[in-house]
Amino acid sequence: MFQNARLKLTAWYLFIIMLVSLSFSMAIYTMISNEVDRLALVQKLRIERRLHESDFLPPELRIQIPNPSLQLIDPDLFSETKHRLALVLILVNGSIFILSGGLGYLLAGRTLKPIQDMHEEQNRFISDSSHELRTPLTALKSSMEVSLRDKNLNLKDAKKLISESIGEVDKLKYLTDGLLQLTRYQKPVSRPKFEILSLSQIITEARIKVTPLAAQKNISLKTELADFEILGEKYSLIDMLIIFLDNAIKYSPDNSEVSVETRKSENTVKIIIKDRGIGIDEGDIPHIFDRFYRADSARSKASVGGYGLGLPIAKNIVAIHHGTIIVDSKINKGSTFTVCLPLVPKSKK
Ligand code: ADP
Repeated sequence: MFQNARLKLTAWYLFIIMLVSLSFSMAIYTMISNEVDRLALVQKLRIERRLHESDFLPPELRIQIPNPSLQLIDPDLFSETKHRLALVLILVNGSIFILSGGLGYLLAGRTLKPIQDMHEEQNRFISDSSHELRTPLTALKSSMEVSLRDKNLNLKDAKKLISESIGEVDKLKYLTDGLLQLTRYQKPVSRPKFEILSLSQIITEARIKVTPLAAQKNISLKTELADFEILGEKYSLIDMLIIFLDNAIKYSPDNSEVSVETRKSENTVKIIIKDRGIGIDEGDIPHIFDRFYRADSARSKASVGGYGLGLPIAKNIVAIHHGTIIVDSKINKGSTFTVCLPLVPKSKK
C-alpha cells in the first residue's frame, strides 16, 4: 500500500517538476529562436544598407533595398543553431527527469515514513488490544455457556455466576478505560492547556485517591513535600501519580511503607516514589514501559491485577510535560521511580 502511495507521490512530484521545466524550456527556445531570427534580419538590413549607400560602387551596381532575393547570411547556420539549442534543452530536461525522479522517490519515502510508522503503530495497537480483550471475553463466554448447559443450576449458583461475571466485566471496563487513557495521552490532538500548579497539592490529591487501597493492605503512605511550582495539566499529572502510587501499593507486602518525596535539582523538580515491595528484575526494567508488558514474576502476574497499561500511560503523561522517568529497583528490596519535571521558568511566574 505504501509502495503504491510512494510511486504515486513520486509521479506527482515528477509531473509538477517536468511541467515547470518544460514550460521554461519552451519559453527559452521560443525566445532564443526569435532573437536569432531578429538578429539575422537586423544584420541583413545593415549589410544591405551599407551596400546601398556605398560610395565605392557605381549607382547601377548598388542594390535595392529591401531585397528578399539577396542571401547574405547562410540560413543553415540559423537552423543548425536552433537544432542545437533544442538538443541542449532536450538533454537538460532528460537529466532533470532522471534526477528529479530519483530524488522525488527518496523524498516521497521520507514524507510518507511518519504516516507509515503511525499506521503500523495503530495496527499493532489494535491487534494488541483485541488480543487482550479476547482472552477475558472468551473466559466469560465459556463460563456462561457451561452454566447454561448445567441442568441442575439453581438460583444460588446463577446469582454466583452473575456476580462473578460482573467482576469480569468490571475488569474489562478497567482495561478499556486504560486503553482510552493511553490513546488520549499517546498523541494528544491538541496541545494540553498548561497552567502553573502547586506540586504538593497535586501529590496530596493523588494520595487521597489511593488511600483506601493502601488501607486495605495496611500500608503507610509517607510524604515529604516541599512546595514547588510546575507548569502542567493538573488532571493528567494526578493520573500519573496515581499510577505510580497504585503500583507501589500493589507490588508491596502488607504492613509496609510507600513514600513520596519532592526535591529540587537545578531547573527540575524530582518526585521520588519509593516502595519496599517485590522489586523488578533487571531484565524487565527496559520493558516495563511497553504497552501490555507485565514483569514475568509469578507473584506479580498471578496475584496482582493489571494489564500492563499503567506505566505506558504514565510515560506518555511525563513526555507531554517534557519530563523523564528514572527506575531503580532490586528484587525483594523494592523500587524507586523518580519523575523529573521542569520547574516553572522565572519568566513565566
Ligand atoms: P500493571 O497494570 O501490570 O501494574 P504497569 O504498566 O503499571 O502495569 O506496570 C508494568 C509492570 O511493571 C508490572 O506488571 C510490574 O511487573 C512492574 N512494576 C511496576 N511498578 C512496580 C513496582 N512499584 N514494583 C514492582 N514491580 C512494578
